Amino acid sequence: MKVLVPVKRVLDYNLKVRVKPDGSGVDLSNLKMSINPFCEIAVEEAVRMKEGGGGHAKDAATEVIAVSIGPEQAQETIRNALAIGADRGILVKADGEVEPLAVAKILKAVIEAEKPDLVILGKQAIDDDSNQVGQMLAALLDWPQATFASKIVLHAGKATVTREVDGGLQTLDVELPAIVTTDLRLNEPRYASLPNIMKAKKKPIDVKTPADFGVDTAPRIKVLKTAEPGKRSGGIKVKSAAELVGKLKEAGVL
Ligand code: AMP
Repeated sequence: MKVLVPVKRVLDYNLKVRVKPDGSGVDLSNLKMSINPFCEIAVEEAVRMKEGGGGHAKDAATEVIAVSIGPEQAQETIRNALAIGADRGILVKADGEVEPLAVAKILKAVIEAEKPDLVILGKQAIDDDSNQVGQMLAALLDWPQATFASKIVLHAGKATVTREVDGGLQTLDVELPAIVTTDLRLNEPRYASLPNIMKAKKKPIDVKTPADFGVDTAPRIKVLKTAEPGKRSGGIKVKSAAELVGKLKEAGVL
């Protein structure tokens, strides 16, 4: 079984986001970029399907392909996936922001060429929190989808996916080929070992452009403003439970 994993290069999750002074977007200059954490979980799951582990039979997957759409440096993101255990990569080179619909259209074309049985994406990219690509891709391909997965069990020709939904868990079956998006609790990605980082340098990465797939990446969305969250106003200390109740009443909480 072939598994395709789209991986996005984003600002490292440990860094504080800085908004450009003119509010036109986020300042990414000289900042560390990393693989989107939900994509890392997706790669880990696909690799476990190959190696066995995480409840998957060994060789449940035979090949794992990591795909990234982004600048030349997105090669590093693909190498990250290769170091976890993906077999090969595809970089679709595009400078500037590529919106979720264009990403989904490019992925559709890659999928039509590669014919994977399963596509595992992150539930969202932590840079713009779109949470759109998996769903759009399923619609464009007319494939079943299971979003926010916290467990995936493969059977012949189908996957049983446990989804994290508001207030509980939902379990559903999807026929393969299917789209699955990962939630945080699906697994804990491994640290890539040094030998595997070295091995990853030798794994092949095919380089393409959106034009190779006939996809126009011109933006359709105009960002009007980007702003930092408002500063928290300072807290106060109360001397007694009665004073706390009074303050809560004042604030209209009680
Ligand atoms: P989003 O819908 O943008 O929040 O992203 C959801 C998921 O779609 C990500 O976790 C990735 O798996 C995939 N994705 C989004 N943008 C890209 C990209 N530029 N290249 C590869 N995969 C992407």
